[in-house]
Amino acid sequence: MLAVRTYAPGEPLRIEEVPLPTPKGTEIRIRVGGCGVCHTDLHIARTNRIRVLRPLTLGHEVAGWVDAAGPGAATELKRARLAEGDGVLVYGGWGCGACTQCAAGEEQRCERSASPGFQRDGGYADYMLVPRARHLVPLGHLHPDHAAPLADAGVTPWRAIQRASAWLQPGARVLLIGFGGLGQFALQYLRLIPDLTVAVRELNPEKLALAGDLGADLGLLMGDEALVELGLGGPADVVFDFVGNDQSLDYAARNVAPGGLVSVVGEGGGRYEFTFDRLPVEASLTTTAWGSFADLREVVRLAKRGRLKWHVERMPLSDAVAAHDRLADGQVSGRIVLVP
Ligand SMILES: [Zn+2]
Ligand SMILES: [Zn+2]
Repeated sequence: MLAVRTYAPGEPLRIEEVPLPTPKGTEIRIRVGGCGVCHTDLHIARTNRIRVLRPLTLGHEVAGWVDAAGPGAATELKRARLAEGDGVLVYGGWGCGACTQCAAGEEQRCERSASPGFQRDGGYADYMLVPRARHLVPLGHLHPDHAAPLADAGVTPWRAIQRASAWLQPGARVLLIGFGGLGQFALQYLRLIPDLTVAVRELNPEKLALAGDLGADLGLLMGDEALVELGLGGPADVVFDFVGNDQSLDYAARNVAPGGLVSVVGEGGGRYEFTFDRLPVEASLTTTAWGSFADLREVVRLAKRGRLKWHVERMPLSDAVAAHDRLADGQVSGRIVLVP
């Protein structure tokens, strides 16, 4: 089968023939229907900042069909109400299953996690292995090559917004930085909460237009920075930074209200010097990464009910290198999904 692999940071990705993996124990083999291309994949391929094990098949945003199961998988498959041929979304927080975080249903926080596209082979391939049936969410009528982005671009902002709920009270002002794969979901979740004013800041005018279509109250192009307070009627109670580079972190910190929240979602490798008086008084700064299995189920439930729209551009798996180049150039609106 075909797989797109990284061998060393900064080296070109290799598109290779590799053996079809055989599921052992509780493992399930998924026939990949689509795998989203995330900025984190770029950071993994091009830098050594992220904890990964190479050589590695990239891809942590995967949907497909149950293809085969290991000899110990039957009970869990049955419990998950899944059978061979069913469409599934792959939950990517593969924790140890035994620590306090895993026991609390926060497997994505597990310090011993080994996740697809990071420490285990992921979905830039024709097939992949998933350790347990508990990492699969049934897709019902949703098609894998459209649903794949829910596994990260969909669930990560959902989680970020749940964690910001104390700040997202009626009348709250919200600023989104970056309107790519995650931003489009974030805006739709925010629109489910009454009485928020939401501004989006983007470098790309086309993406900003999409933000307007999806209900942003205010669009800010780079250079309009001074307009945040004017447009929102004050500094932001919550800033979601989907970029996470030096500039966006600084911009977030300068536009958050006293007592507000800066939630950093993008793994852009930026640095921010956190000192007592740098942020407005009592403002909070947090990161958020991925979501729990329960979060993912909630996102899939919304998608099945037709409450979410997301834009997908399908590209053949063999074009993974071109897909990375286009994402790096900021030329992707919505999400590229690689289709084997
Ligand atoms: Zn990602
Ligand atoms: Zn654990």
